[in-house]
Amino acid sequence: MENVFAPAKIPVVPLFGSAMVFPVHRIYCVGRNYSDHVKEMGGDPKLEPPIFFSKPADAIVTENKPVRYPLATADLHHEVELVVALSAGGENIEAAAALECVFGYAVGVDLTRRDLQGLAKKGGKPWDVAKGFDQSAPISAINPLSNLITHPTDAAISLSVNGSVRQQANINEMIWSIAEIISELSRYYELRAGDLIYTGTPAGVAAITRGDKVRAEIDTVGVLEFVLE
Ligand code: MN
Repeated sequence: MENVFAPAKIPVVPLFGSAMVFPVHRIYCVGRNYSDHVKEMGGDPKLEPPIFFSKPADAIVTENKPVRYPLATADLHHEVELVVALSAGGENIEAAAALECVFGYAVGVDLTRRDLQGLAKKGGKPWDVAKGFDQSAPISAINPLSNLITHPTDAAISLSVNGSVRQQANINEMIWSIAEIISELSRYYELRAGDLIYTGTPAGVAAITRGDKVRAEIDTVGVLEFVLE
């Protein structure tokens, strides 16, 4: 059968130190995975365990390209996050076997229309318009596990805007570990090669505006830089 129009291209993420690319299947995200961030959002980490939401695969912005300021918001926030890239998947994966699905890691920013998220929370509505918009998932090159000594568990994570540090923490503060996230997520979805998981943000989220230069870094994993246009 012939397509009625040319299908959209599969989004791809470059690999660090390789000419190959990583084809994206889905983007999953974890919310409320650092206690200090849950508290700064007015929540109680003991009462509100981490949650999942998703973004479209074509929300990625790669190669440090500029990000367009999105429609329908006056309060766009940055959230620096460790991104896990999967090369295998399945359903109901045991935490003990979960890291076998990991291909590599990247630095991502979960851009959030905070004003729309506030309205959604207040109205008991879904987070889609707050989280899953165009260009909402900037990502660095993926660092394949073969380049890393081990899975990152203790690494500084930070984000600065125009040279001023806004977020500074360690990924060892995550409430759910990488293995636990993969295992939990696989209770709800069949995970597949090509899935990206944004694993949550530490405290310090704040607004960015047109012209801001954002730099996000995770020790041993990589650096992501972009300008907001
Ligand atoms: Mn986030």
